[in-house]
Amino acid sequence: MYKADTIIAPATAGGRAAVAIVRMSGPEAFAIAAQILRLVSRAQPRPWTLHRSIAVDPASDEPLDEVLAVWMPAPRTYTGEDLVEIHCHGSPLIVESVIGAATRAGARPADRGEFTRRAVLNGRMDLAQAEAVADLVDARVRGGARLAWEQLQGGLSRRLRSIRDAIIGVLSDIEANVDFSDDDLPEENTVPRIEALEAARDEVAGMLDGFIAARRWREGYRVVFTGRPNVGKSSLVNALLGYGRMIVSEEPGTTRDAVEEMVDLGGCAFVLTDTAGVRESASEAETRAVDRAREKLAQADIVIHVFDVRAQTTVLDDGGLLPASDAKHLVVLNKCDLLPHAGIDEIPGKGPDWTQAVIRTSARTGEGCDALAAALVSIACDEGEELHEAPTNISRVRHRSALEEAHKGISSALELLHHGGAPELVSIEIRTALGHLAAITEPLNNDEVLDRIFKDFCIGK
Ligand code: GDP
Repeated sequence: MYKADTIIAPATAGGRAAVAIVRMSGPEAFAIAAQILRLVSRAQPRPWTLHRSIAVDPASDEPLDEVLAVWMPAPRTYTGEDLVEIHCHGSPLIVESVIGAATRAGARPADRGEFTRRAVLNGRMDLAQAEAVADLVDARVRGGARLAWEQLQGGLSRRLRSIRDAIIGVLSDIEANVDFSDDDLPEENTVPRIEALEAARDEVAGMLDGFIAARRWREGYRVVFTGRPNVGKSSLVNALLGYGRMIVSEEPGTTRDAVEEMVDLGGCAFVLTDTAGVRESASEAETRAVDRAREKLAQADIVIHVFDVRAQTTVLDDGGLLPASDAKHLVVLNKCDLLPHAGIDEIPGKGPDWTQAVIRTSARTGEGCDALAAALVSIACDEGEELHEAPTNISRVRHRSALEEAHKGISSALELLHHGGAPELVSIEIRTALGHLAAITEPLNNDEVLDRIFKDFCIGK
């Protein structure tokens, strides 16, 4: 439940720094600030102005730090409540003492995501925008940050709003005419309804189609290296890591598989997975490794098939492993330093995706590794173009599930309309679809849903 008490938390990361910011929000924020801040050159603070102040312990008046503080009156603040920001010296000890002073004066340490949760409950942003705050803070590559930025600006919310408005138009039209029997209804009335619902359904389908591209921008492309043992898969992973910026995951709970590495190539994130030499085998340990490899391949966005260039043939003998059907494939002939002028040049036909160029590399000398990195970036850029056309897309599984349900509802309503179904039934389907669309952005008075969303936020966000 939303308790309108006053909360406080550091807004900046822990550790030593030049400055740390402590944020306090709630009805008592100004009163508590008056107890713990002594303004240096004024009696009263002016709103939205930084004031030099001395932070003190309210009980003993002992000075804690010289700070800059800003008073932001409700309602046009981040949380929609009175908000005070205290910029103190960036020492964990000082941050702790300022927070301690404020809590002794009546503030409560904030829970995870509580500032943003209040922003949602006070109508300062919707749920999708709140999620975008988390995504923007967590973004590790430019693409992910851009997607989050668009969503934070309300692009996704507006797109959903216009779909809902169109559907609401049809619904009110149907419900206004519900007293007329079907026979009285001129056919002209049904055609525009069908057209409007079809347009809404296609828009929802388009957003669902764009989900995978958006997810890749948020979480990175899953690149899986596969091939026989010793062809140089892990050496190639290491070579690629040398080409880009390593992305270190600091979030708890995001520890990846030991053989997964995340790298930023050209502003796009790639999660590189080196499958342990994949082949059918009797040994139990190896069977487990093959199972894991199969799992990775099933989720891959891009599969890199690595061969030793000296091999006589490049039979794709990965024990019948079948990667995800929409994955892109690259074929790499490694160890070309050992066989500079020749080697296999034909890959058994595997359908259109296999027409990708064969890339010759040497993980040892680095030759061809730039071409491999460029090939990955170019696959991502193609998708990026799509994203550029529709930059305001869903990027979370929560959104996708809601859109899938909305799509089902609209489709059922259309089915009924086409077959002269009862208007009451059509309107039930439409209302169901509307409910699912609303759930993406509206704060629903559902604590369970809100808890689930904000539990992944950090303290102070
Ligand atoms: P994996 O089992 O496919 O992951 O293969 P590794 O990356 O462990 O490499 C197997 C062996 O091949 C190691 O001794 C590597 O040093 C060597 N190797 C990998 N890439 C190259 C290469 O491009 N040229 C040469 N000459 N040796 C390589």
